[in-house]
Amino acid sequence: GRAAAQDYDFFYLVLQWPGSYCDTRQSCCYPKSGKPAADFGIHGLWPNRDDGSYPQNCNPDSEFDPSKVSDLLSSLRAKWPTLACPTNDGLRFWGHEWEKHGTCASNVFDEHGYFQAALRLRDRLGVLRALAAGGVRPDGGYYTLDQIKGAIRDGTGFEPYVECNRDESGNSQLYQLYFCVNAAGDSLVECPILPRGRPCGSRIEFPAF
Ligand code: 5GP
Ligand code: 5GP
Ligand code: 5GP
Repeated sequence: GRAAAQDYDFFYLVLQWPGSYCDTRQSCCYPKSGKPAADFGIHGLWPNRDDGSYPQNCNPDSEFDPSKVSDLLSSLRAKWPTLACPTNDGLRFWGHEWEKHGTCASNVFDEHGYFQAALRLRDRLGVLRALAAGGVRPDGGYYTLDQIKGAIRDGTGFEPYVECNRDESGNSQLYQLYFCVNAAGDSLVECPILPRGRPCGSRIEFPAF
């Protein structure tokens, strides 16, 4: 259910594997701070409705202001790195996510709260650790969807939706993980609805980064 002034029901917390963002025909650019760690980074925290639709760009007057997250910048560089070209410092990516998605959750988050919540939720999950504990490692090997989802479910308590993209040779690879977060933005929950997308196939590459 939705409270007044809240035009969404839950959030997707979307994490990206940098190896799979970079290992495509389009390639990538490391941010100005250097090559990010070989770990899942944040793509965004996206308000979403139970019917699959979502609000976006909810307040054009609320422009991203880096000075409001100055205490979070080193964490953002480490855990929410941009890999888009040309090389930049990340402010463009963070500004895009705040303006497109964050402004639609102003009932629970100001700018600082939005970025802090995404960082905390990501840290709480420990996805890479969960995968490793289940024998799923970024070693360029191939895994099944069940192995990937099972390892994450066993290690974190939550089963993500897995999105795949294609490497330069056309192999399906582990690209993004979608977790769900309650409307207050403070707890992971089972997903009310899964994003629609293409199946990953039976062999999923987990490339190194
Ligand atoms: P794509 O078409 O590349 O999957 O998504 C493009 C952009 O649309 C995403 O980066 C995100 O901003 C938005 N988007 C795509 N799917 C969803 C969704 O299911 N929920 C929400 N909230 N945003 C989405
Ligand atoms: P979306 O609209 O899909 O939420 O956000 C994607 C936008 O952020 C695109 O304009 C994309 O070029 C930009 N972007 C910048 N850095 C990254 C990154 O590291 N990963 C992704 N997926 N998009 C990025
Ligand atoms: P089922 O609902 O029978 O598990 O799956 C139906 C279809 O959705 C299958 O093609 C399966 O591969 C796909 N599917 C299930 N879970 C995921 C997921 O997390 N990511 C992707 N990309 N496809 C999925």
